[in-house]
Amino acid sequence: VIRCRAAVAWAPGKPLSVEEVEVAPPKAGEVRIKIVATGICHTDERVRQGYFPDAEFPIIPGHEGAGIVESVGEGVTSMKPGDKVIPLFVPQCGKCSFCLNPESNFCQKSHISEPQNLLPDKTSRFSCKGKQIHHFLWVSTFAEYTVVPEYAVAKIDAAAPLDKVCLFSCGFSTGYGSAINTAKVKPGSTCAVFGLGGVGLSVVIGCKVAGASRIIAVDINKDKFAKAKQLGATDCINPQDFKKPIQEVLTEMTGQGVDYSFEAIGKAETMVAALASCNMSTGVCVMIGELDSGSEISINPMLLLTGRTWKGSVLGGWKSRECLPKLVSSYLEKKFNPDLLITHTLPFDKVNEGFELLDTGK
Ligand code: NAD
Ligand code: ZN
Ligand code: ZN
Repeated sequence: VIRCRAAVAWAPGKPLSVEEVEVAPPKAGEVRIKIVATGICHTDERVRQGYFPDAEFPIIPGHEGAGIVESVGEGVTSMKPGDKVIPLFVPQCGKCSFCLNPESNFCQKSHISEPQNLLPDKTSRFSCKGKQIHHFLWVSTFAEYTVVPEYAVAKIDAAAPLDKVCLFSCGFSTGYGSAINTAKVKPGSTCAVFGLGGVGLSVVIGCKVAGASRIIAVDINKDKFAKAKQLGATDCINPQDFKKPIQEVLTEMTGQGVDYSFEAIGKAETMVAALASCNMSTGVCVMIGELDSGSEISINPMLLLTGRTWKGSVLGGWKSRECLPKLVSSYLEKKFNPDLLITHTLPFDKVNEGFELLDTGK
C-alpha cells in the first residue's frame, strides 16, 4: 500500500480536499501509476458539481494525466515499471464488437455501458480516513498514485514530456480528433468552432492541420481570441456583439453556412446553434460538449431532413491504446503544437485554484 496525496471530492458542489490516501497495490490485470502531471478538463468541473451521470461520492476526479508505471499486477504484459504512460478514460479492450470495428473508438468497457466508479472487480483501490473512495472513469488522475486496468493505459514514447502530454489523455486528443477523425475536415473547407477552452482550441488546431481555409472561432469571452488566432482561427466572433442569432451571422458570413461546425461548450442553446450553422445539405456538426445529467435538447427535425449530419465524438474518435501513442510521437516530431494550450502550471495542493481559473475563463 502506498500513502500519498489525492484531491478528494467528498460531496457535490464543495471544493476538493487534498488528503492523505492509501492506494492498494494493483490486482491481476491492473497497473499502478505514479501520476506526474494532470490537466483540468471541464468534465472534472461537472463531476465536482455533481452533474456527471452516475458519479458516486466520495470520488477522486481527474482524467487528463500522464505518469510512470510504478508496479503491475499479475498477467500484465504490455508495460513494466518505469514506462511512461497515459491513462485512458475511453479504454480499448481489443475484444468487444466496437473495438473489433475499425469505424468505432467506443469500447464497450466505457463508462456509459459499465459505470467506472469502482475497478472492474467492483472494488476500490483508494481509501481515506477508513472510508472507501470511488474511482472516476477508472483513471482518477488527481492522485499521486492511481490504479487503472491495463486496457485503459497507453504506453508512450520515453522521450515524451509528461507535463505537456497529459493533455493527450483528454482535451487535445478530443478536440484535434473531432476535426480529423469525426468530421474528416477537407482542405479548403470552412469551419466554425463554438467554445475556445482546451477542447475547442484543439479543434482549431485540427481544422488548421486538415487544411481548412476558413476557421471561425466563437466564444463569449473575447480574451480567448488572441490564442485562437495564434492557433489558426481566421475570424473570431462573440455572439453577444450581434442582435441576431449566431447561426444567422455564420450563415451570412459564409453564404450557405459552414461545411463543419463543432460544439465544445456543453450548453443546449449552443448545440442547436452549432447544428444550424453548418450548411443544410452537406454540413456536418460534431457535438463534443456534454450537457449536465438529466438535461435534454429539442430540435426542429427539418434541420436534418435536408441532409445535414449531426455526430457526436468521444476522445476525438481515436482508438485509445492504439492511436494515442502515435499521436504523442507526431507531437514529438513537431507536427502540431498543443503546448500553447497550457496557460498555468500549479503545484498539486493548489488544485482548487486551477478550478477557479477554469471557471473564470482564464
Ligand atoms: P472550458 O470551460 O475550458 O471552455 C468552454 C468555453 O466555452 C469557454 O471559453 C467559455 O467562455 C465558452 N462559452 C461558454 N458559454 C458560451 C456561449 N454561450 N457561447 C459561446 N461560448 C461559450 O471547457 P473544455 O474543457 O474545453 O470542455 C468543453 C466541453 O467539452 C465540456 O462540456 C466538456 O465536458 C466537454 N468534453 C467532452 C469530451 C468528449 O470526449 N466528448 C472530452 C472533453 C471535454
Ligand atoms: Zn476531459
Ligand atoms: Zn472494447
